[in-house]
Amino acid sequence: MAGGYECKKCRKIVQVRMQYFFRAHFADCHDMIEVGFSRDVAAALMGGIDAETFKSKYTTSKEIEDFIAGNVLYKSIKLTVKRKEEKFLGETRQRFYAFAVQYLTEKDSQEIVESN
Ligand SMILES: [Zn+2]
Repeated sequence: MAGGYECKKCRKIVQVRMQYFFRAHFADCHDMIEVGFSRDVAAALMGGIDAETFKSKYTTSKEIEDFIAGNVLYKSIKLTVKRKEEKFLGETRQRFYAFAVQYLTEKDSQEIVESN
C-alpha cells in the first residue's frame, strides 16, 4: 500500500513493506529439510504477483484462501533448490534455498514420471 497504514492510536502513518515469508518442509522417515524462499521466488510461486500487489488485490482471508486453492494447492511444481553450507559457532550447517520455481503442466509432470 503506497500511502502506508495509519496507526489507530497515535495517527502516525507507518510505512509497511509487504513481504512473503515462505518456508517449505520436505521430509521422509529419516530426515527433514527446510527450504527458504527469496522474495522473487516467493512471487513466482504466487503466480508472479509481488506481495504488495497481492495484498492490495486479495484482502480478506476468504479471497486469499480461494487464490491459494485455485492457483497453488495441489499443483505440480518443479522447485530448484540450492544448498549452502554455513558455519555457525564452529559447526557446519546446511541451508537450503529455493532458487527457481516452475509450474508444470500435466504433460510436463507425465514426462518427469516417465523418465524416472
Ligand atoms: Zn502509533
